[in-house]
Amino acid sequence: MTDGWTESRVRELVRRLEEFRSSCRVTTLVAEQESSRSPYRLLVACVISLRTKDEVTSAASRRLFALADNVDLLADLEEDRIAQAIYPAGFYNTKARQLRQIAAILRDDFGGEVPATEADLLALPGVGRKTANLVLGLGFGKPAICVDTHVHRISNRLGLVRTKTPEQTERALTGVLPRDLWIPINDLLVTFGQNRCHPISPRCASCVLADLCPRIGVTRSR
Ligand code: SF4
Repeated sequence: MTDGWTESRVRELVRRLEEFRSSCRVTTLVAEQESSRSPYRLLVACVISLRTKDEVTSAASRRLFALADNVDLLADLEEDRIAQAIYPAGFYNTKARQLRQIAAILRDDFGGEVPATEADLLALPGVGRKTANLVLGLGFGKPAICVDTHVHRISNRLGLVRTKTPEQTERALTGVLPRDLWIPINDLLVTFGQNRCHPISPRCASCVLADLCPRIGVTRSR
């Protein structure tokens, strides 16, 4: 454990994060998973979400699913129409190409299903560890820690880990978090990062974790 993060302290941290989340808007990817229970839709929304604000991801995913609610329809959709549907998501042209390629691979090699292994997911265009772990965890219930910018930043501020890259954070967190927290930690820290522990000037003065947090690397706060 890093910086005194015993299991009981980690569980207290998570309890407070859960309480905090209950007062916040549900994130797009969790809302997608809860409403559709479809690994296809989760994977597509996750690709759209990269470097894109949550509200933009939500609207873009809705527009695309109105055109292509399954693998076959997406594989047959022209790239331009995918790009138009997901605009203004970041890198919408690149994502349109990748989404079409992903759909074709799922249709041709996986019988129209999303594969449930890390290796197969990582082999898909535009799918990195973050997306693969999110789909494995949320989509298939397999223990995996999805580390995005919020998880990486907040884990370091809290002293749960001391790492330079999201990949290092993922590895380090496997040693700090009990296994049953691997899947839920992403959404808890994403929600917390969007609403309280912002990248610049986090709201430390009104933070429910203040007494647990050494605020490592925080130079300016509110
Ligand atoms: S005290 Fe500040 S740095 Fe620590 S978790 Fe709260 S908002 Fe983030």
